[in-house]
This record gives sequence, C-alpha cells and structure tokens, in this order.
Amino acid sequence: MTEPVFRFAPSPNGDLHLGHALSAILNHDAAVREGGRFLVRIEDIDGERSRPEFVDRILEDLAWLGLAHEEPVRRQSEHLADYTAALEKLEDLGLLYPSFASRAEIARAVAEAEAASGTPAPRDPDGATLYPGIDRLLGPAEVDARLRAGEPHAMRIRMDAAALMAGSLDWEEAGDLAPAGRVPADPLAWGDVVLARKDAPASYHVAVVVDDALQGVTDVIRGADLFHATSIHRLLQQLLGLPAPRYRHHRLVLGPDGRKLSKSKGSSSLRGLRQAGATPADVRRRLGLGPPPPGAMARPQRNRYS
Ligand code: GLU
Repeated sequence: MTEPVFRFAPSPNGDLHLGHALSAILNHDAAVREGGRFLVRIEDIDGERSRPEFVDRILEDLAWLGLAHEEPVRRQSEHLADYTAALEKLEDLGLLYPSFASRAEIARAVAEAEAASGTPAPRDPDGATLYPGIDRLLGPAEVDARLRAGEPHAMRIRMDAAALMAGSLDWEEAGDLAPAGRVPADPLAWGDVVLARKDAPASYHVAVVVDDALQGVTDVIRGADLFHATSIHRLLQQLLGLPAPRYRHHRLVLGPDGRKLSKSKGSSSLRGLRQAGATPADVRRRLGLGPPPPGAMARPQRNRYS
C-alpha cells in the first residue's frame, strides 16, 4: 500500500481559529498514526482576500500546536500556470464559456425569472441562487466582439454538458456526519459554477483538485462546509483525469452564538487563546481530542520539492 498523504489547506485571509485547529490536528494525527505524510498548503489565489502576513501567522500557530509538517509549503499563488493548464484542458473539451454578467445583472435576471414564474429561484447546496445562464444566450459574434474588446469576464462551466461527459460519480466518505461509505456526487446541483474569476486566474475548485493530485494527496480531511463542494471536485477530477482522494468531512466548530466561526470576525482565534494563556493541550481538550499520538514530535520531516 502506498503511504497516505494528508494535507491542511488554509486560506490566508485571517488568523486560524478552533475550526482550523480541528482540521489541522485531525490531518496531522491521522498522518502520524498511519505512518503517512502531512502537508500544509497555502490557498492564496484569491488576491483580494489573501494577505501575506497571515501566512507567517498561520505557520506560527501550527508550530505552536506542535503540528510538524513537511517543507517547503506549497503556495498556490506561485503555481498559477498549473491551474491555467487545467482550465485549458476543460476549454479544449468545450466545457467553458465566458461570463460577462455582473453580480447586479445576475441578481436582476434571477428576480425577473422569479417574478415571471411565480416560484422561488433554485438554490445551490450552500443556499445561493443558481446562476441563471444569461451569458449562454449571447450569440458567438457578440461574445467574440466583447472578448476582443478586452471586457472583463469570468469562465463558467457548462454543467449540463460536463456532468453528461463525466457520467455518474461518487466518492469515498469516512465522514463524521454522513455514514461512512460511497456518496453519490451531484454536480448539477451547483449549476454553471465559475472556474476562473474576473479577478483571479482560477477558482478554488480548480486549484484544489489540481494540487491534491500534484501533491499525491490520498486523504482529504476538512470541514463539513465543503461536503457538497466535493461533487464539483469529483466532476473536475474525472474530466481532468485526476485520481480521487478519500474524503472525511468533520463537524464544524461553532461559536457561542451557535454560528460557524469565521476568520474575519476573529472569533476564538488560536492567537487569542494563546495570548490568554491556553496551551496546545487545552486546545485539544476544547475540541474533544486526545493527546497527540506517540511519535508525533519525533518524526523526521522530509524535504520535498513543492
Ligand atoms: N482553503 C479552504 C479553506 O480554507 C480549504 C480547502 C480544502 O480543505 O479543500 O476553507
């Protein structure tokens, strides 16, 4: 059996909180227990929200928690060509189209469709209204002219054609929330998602599947908020000929208000807990986790090319 490869993949748009600690510790401890590798990947392709200073703070928090990971750490912003290549492959399959519509135009089209049909617009698994497909109605001459004029646009996937091409898909879930077993993927539930944004060369969905494959990740342990997005990830893996890792989506850590912790709110940050005198053992206790598995700190860290 090949050695399992785990990863923790934070986005540097704020300080880590207890929810991240749960993900990071579960990945790290599983790697130690199973004699596998533990990688950290910085998901910083969102130029607007990512801030370089948070990278150092994240790595410092992980070191404080005692979670030794391999070096060097892969930073997505340094590998944009890998994501562009994947997008080109999807484009060659005829599955992408440019989407010029602004948020306001999309919202207006959704409202008009709701008014015309008298029924609420369909929503994706995260609760957002589905993109109503307005850019698919543009004629080829208009698309050409707007592209030639350099009009900013996103690239969306033709989800109906993509799902048909990919065929029926599922994934292996060792979830804490769903029963362990194979989960059927339902990418159509997401509609024509954006795979390259107006302001970023690739979306999270593209970068995550490309990197998991490039880094040989065999096991993805992450928060339950990404459970349904796995349908998109399985679709892209299939279309791009990439292997599918095993998935485990863990419970979310909720704040005192019963809501998901958010980085931007700075709630329950590890930094804040540390400054208030908490120890890594306190963090584990608060998360209902035991001590690190034996051998955790003594593991040699291999230096591999990122
Ligand atoms: N970068 C994502 C986040 O911080 C996690 C991605 C993943 O684990 O697949 O929410």
